[in-house]
Amino acid sequence: MKNVAILGSTGSIGKNALHVVRNLKDSFRVTGLSSHSQWEFLARQAEEFNPSHIALSDLQLAGKLKQHLSGKQIEVISGNNCLKEIVLKSEADIVVSAVVGAIGLSAAIATVQAGKILALANKEALVMAGNIVIPLAKKNQILPVDSEHSAIFQALQSGRQNEIRRIIITASGGPFYDFPADTLADVTPAQALKHPTWRMGQKITIDSATLMNKALEIIEAKWLFNLEADQIDVVVHPQSIIHSMVEFCDGSVIAQMGMPDMKVPIQYALTFPERACLNAEPLDLPRIENLTFKKPDREKFPALKLGYLAVREGGTIGATLNAANEVAVQAFLEKKIRFTEIASFVEKVINHHHFIKDPCLEEILAADAWARQEIKKCLT
Ligand code: NDP
Ligand code: MG
Repeated sequence: MKNVAILGSTGSIGKNALHVVRNLKDSFRVTGLSSHSQWEFLARQAEEFNPSHIALSDLQLAGKLKQHLSGKQIEVISGNNCLKEIVLKSEADIVVSAVVGAIGLSAAIATVQAGKILALANKEALVMAGNIVIPLAKKNQILPVDSEHSAIFQALQSGRQNEIRRIIITASGGPFYDFPADTLADVTPAQALKHPTWRMGQKITIDSATLMNKALEIIEAKWLFNLEADQIDVVVHPQSIIHSMVEFCDGSVIAQMGMPDMKVPIQYALTFPERACLNAEPLDLPRIENLTFKKPDREKFPALKLGYLAVREGGTIGATLNAANEVAVQAFLEKKIRFTEIASFVEKVINHHHFIKDPCLEEILAADAWARQEIKKCLT
């Protein structure tokens, strides 16, 4: 029996993770859950899974949650450090980090430092601070949940690190891939929130539409698989059937395929190095008929270039890019800026920032805070 804590259990990945654990209940027990403000939903999850600890970051709502669960043997944690606390107090062997944004960094660090397995969906932690998180982790201690990185990780089980020639990360292209460039300035949040192949939280759905998600993913891949910029390719594959590929030194390319379903990579991260059965939709290739591929358009979607810059130069660029993007996405959702301004404002902030080549954690957090302030100047 393994103990699992799920950070961000009320979100898209969190709910899928609980679905997986429900089906594997003979081998996994939920000992920790967390959310930000959806306290009633968290309370229902706690009643079903009976964890020892749950966390709600909103202090005021945590009072209601405590009252609701009074009489139950469930400790409610709240406040700024609650994610880290739940990692440490819940006696989890595996922590699924499915919170969105920079807030996940401290929990990621706490998880690896405590020697627990980190099943990582929160790519932002590596984008910001891969140089801090990765050296703390042992081999296979961080297991990717992001579908592309899970695909690469699965393909790598048939080869060695030094045999990788390159990886090919697939991108759906998002809802606007075929839109003419001059129409992108006028697309609305409602249009951007309609992802063609995946159902996800709002922030990553907007990131998928700008291709910033792919930028974050190439940075994530650099850290997870120890790669150089010229070993990371991106190809647009609108059907989202091939989740990514690895080309080995003999020219063999190994792809991982399947219908788009986040339960597959989540479960693989939980059960690795084994596989468990999952009632996933079977892949029906004759029905799908065509798998197509295109070169990404880096002019129409400039976010991708920023991702490559962060992979090449490293340092504080990842943290700056991530923080500026978080603020810009929120501003776009609130209709304060245009779709195309997300990437252009992020680029502006990166260009103005004080670059540090090998930053410590404090310098990374300072770059994050600075970028959040700096991009606000573009919004007014
Ligand atoms: P959602 O927005 O659906 O869920 C986010 C979760 O984090 C919710 O439980 C939310 O709580 C919680 N949360 C939000 N803000 C805070 C905060 N400030 N402090 C603590 N908890 C917070 O996001 P997704 O599930 O879509 O994405 C989660 C992560 O996984 C992201 O990093 C994303 O990039 C990554 N990912 C997601 C994929 C997907 O298919 N969705 C695919 C690959 C990666 P509440 O509900 O109370 O707001
Ligand atoms: Mg992904």
